Amino acid sequence: MKNNQKIFYVDTDRCMNCRACEVACKMEQNLPAGPRYLVVTETEVTREDRDHCEFFPMNCMHCGNPPCAKVCPVNAITKRMEDGVVVVDQSKCIGCRVCLWACPFGAPQVGINGKMEKCNLCLHSLVEGALPACARACCGEAIKVGTMEEIIAYVREKYAQSCQKKLSYIRDVFSD
Ligand code: SF4
Ligand code: SF4
Repeated sequence: MKNNQKIFYVDTDRCMNCRACEVACKMEQNLPAGPRYLVVTETEVTREDRDHCEFFPMNCMHCGNPPCAKVCPVNAITKRMEDGVVVVDQSKCIGCRVCLWACPFGAPQVGINGKMEKCNLCLHSLVEGALPACARACCGEAIKVGTMEEIIAYVREKYAQSCQKKLSYIRDVFSD
């Protein structure tokens, strides 16, 4: 599973709070007023003695060991073996909302039929090799969806570049 698991990763340095991902998600999933599979959250953080707002598009993280699936009394939630996407079978759901209490990210939503629904990483696109609508719409390229290896490679490259910049700065300033 670990090799196939699709990861939803947000590069918070790149998110500018435009909320194009929220709109794209609503449109792609044809959602009525009410359920929101993705919400951009705002958190005040202090970094290097300066306060600023950090934005984080929050949706289902398709957890490796999903707490929502563990607590569902009717096994309506499962994790797909082929890609790790956590899906809900609405024909089984009894609308008890236990999954909502168990989820650390507040991802499960109650639909207008009273049953649980949530992000499925746009499975219809994913199985054809395309990215979910949120990642396609993100103009800051903040949302990354890929395998664990692809996301780790992205993070490594990003921090390597940032270290390189800092090292160049030190060399430029302090070399005689
Ligand atoms: S609904 Fe919540 S607990 Fe379940 S897989 Fe998604 S993020 Fe994890
Ligand atoms: S609301 Fe539905 S999916 Fe969630 S725990 Fe209850 S039966 Fe399972």
